[in-house]
Amino acid sequence: MRVAITFDVEHDCPPYLTTVRGMEEGLPKLLDLMGEKRVKATFFFTAEMAKRFPELVRRVIDEGHELGSHNYDHERLDKLSLEKGRRTIEKSLEVLRKFGDVVSFRAPNLQFPDEYYGVLEKNGILVDSSKATYKGYRSGVNFFGNVLEVPTSTTSSVIRLPWRFQRIIHPRLKEPRVYFAHPWEFVPMQKEKIRWDCRFNTGDKAIELLGRLIDYYKSQGAEFMKMQEFYEVYGKLKRD
Ligand SMILES: [Zn+2]
Repeated sequence: MRVAITFDVEHDCPPYLTTVRGMEEGLPKLLDLMGEKRVKATFFFTAEMAKRFPELVRRVIDEGHELGSHNYDHERLDKLSLEKGRRTIEKSLEVLRKFGDVVSFRAPNLQFPDEYYGVLEKNGILVDSSKATYKGYRSGVNFFGNVLEVPTSTTSSVIRLPWRFQRIIHPRLKEPRVYFAHPWEFVPMQKEKIRWDCRFNTGDKAIELLGRLIDYYKSQGAEFMKMQEFYEVYGKLKRD
């Protein structure tokens, strides 16, 4: 069983807030948790957050996680022309690749028109994780040119649900199972004027529940994957 834990590293709850509490308090806690559990994850950074918090990008890389792109400043690709969208992607890669290799991408708000696969391919991206099976996209992986699509399996708030609900949801997901969350979900957001599903169980409760999810998959003997590792597994099958 293959499972990926991924994080979209951005300012707090875009487009509603502009604060960065998730970066200041949430991301260090997440990195501590992943270190404690000895699980490698993928962190899709916006270039803007990487520029403001370079020490956190370095920590991600030094601790063996994967650095991916979440576009430049969380621009939604479905709201831009292909040309403008291409430029935001290329600018983000220019910033992020100063820290290390970047071969994985996730579009903000999981809005990713198919014509962008060509843009990713030209820019050396091997894995995209911008589609979502919970929005009706087919499960399993697919190649678009040389780009492997590994869709996400659940919306981020699922991993903050009380465990008695989660234990019913996880076994029903198809493989590979790709989870995602944001640093701002790991600081208390209860007092913010944002949608309820962005607020409930945020803060330390979310850390506890993510730990529980990881323990659950460990007990099942799951293999935790970084996104680039999916390319190694499925890209090889494609070549053979
Ligand atoms: Zn995002």
